[in-house]
Amino acid sequence: MNNRATGFESISVKDTEQNENVRSHSLPIYASSAFEFESLEHGISIFTGETNGYVYGRYGNPTLDAVANKIALLEGYGTGVEPVAFLTPSGMSAIYLAVNASVSPGQTLLAQYNLYGGTTELLQKVVSGQGREVVFTDLRDAERLRRDLSTNNKVAAIYLETPSNPDLRCVDILQVTEIAGEFGVKTILDNTFATPYLQRGFGLDVDIVIHSTTKYLNGNGNIIGGVILGKDAEFMNSRVKDQLKLMGAMASPFDSWILNNGMKTLALRMERHCDNAEKIATVLDAHEKVSKVNYPGLTDHPDHKVAAKQMARFGGMLSFELAGGLEAGKKFMAGIEFCSLAPTLGNVDTLILHPASMSHLKVPKEIREKIGITDGLVRLSVGIETAEDIIKDLVGALDRI
Ligand code: PLP
Repeated sequence: MNNRATGFESISVKDTEQNENVRSHSLPIYASSAFEFESLEHGISIFTGETNGYVYGRYGNPTLDAVANKIALLEGYGTGVEPVAFLTPSGMSAIYLAVNASVSPGQTLLAQYNLYGGTTELLQKVVSGQGREVVFTDLRDAERLRRDLSTNNKVAAIYLETPSNPDLRCVDILQVTEIAGEFGVKTILDNTFATPYLQRGFGLDVDIVIHSTTKYLNGNGNIIGGVILGKDAEFMNSRVKDQLKLMGAMASPFDSWILNNGMKTLALRMERHCDNAEKIATVLDAHEKVSKVNYPGLTDHPDHKVAAKQMARFGGMLSFELAGGLEAGKKFMAGIEFCSLAPTLGNVDTLILHPASMSHLKVPKEIREKIGITDGLVRLSVGIETAEDIIKDLVGALDRI
């Protein structure tokens, strides 16, 4: 307590002295919008950058830094790269920052055609409207990528998501970064589906990695969050950090703390997600009412070899097509009793979505089919429950169509 706080009101307003000897065993939440200076000189030295320190919550916060640094260590693990990471309030804000900092007005972003729907919308509605051109292409096609880059010298960055949401197609990351390198173009990878436990872009020469931490990194479905990581420290600490500060795109210390708790079990959860998804993909693949299963772990998946090359295992996400189309999709969803009907993914519990009657209800059929969302497509985020309970539910609902 400040020893000048003698009045009742002053005592109630001022905080008591913090015990400098306390060493919290688990990460504390720094719920403070600003950080105090010991003296004027101390404040000046922090503002001028002579001393490291915290100033204002929108510029930096020790809880956020601790969590961001953990993700940096996980994404850098075994790659020889020590990325710089910043937490953001959502996956979407991390994507926006990555693109905004990498592509200037007048330049072009080359993006994969089958991205998460929100990303495509962001690129079309926001990024394209800011004097940046966005060109969608198939990044799995090396010849096409080379052609795209050699005919458009304004391309500043390539944006990829692998495995992709919701069709689970995989892009050969190294092939893209090698071609990008020939043209001096940056690469941005959305690693949300795989997580650094299964796939590490920095080991494959990616420049920027982003995540929706809302999903697997947290795993418990109780926050919305994102992270942007980059291997060029100068670019991250100047261009990205400036935009983060000035757009006010900082995560909250509470959400960051929740994310930190979730990440403690990431490795265990991912093993179990993969075990369960492998079993379920095999069962669905053999079911007569399922015409197609999109799971990169199945040997007949068109990108199985690419996935096997760059992923440690094949993840917990899959999608499948019901032979009976839209009606079958609705009946199937109505028959689900154990899995949760919810439009998110990467949680410990199994989540199921029928895009044609749920998330993509208002998207015209021709448009959604171009990105692989057919009438009978069901997306499954396989949880870590007892596999037999999930299988019983899915097979029961299939049998009742
Ligand atoms: N990237 C992928 C692959 C996603 O699936 C999502 C959301 O579903 C996002 C990014 C956006 O993340 P958020 O909802 O945390 O903004």
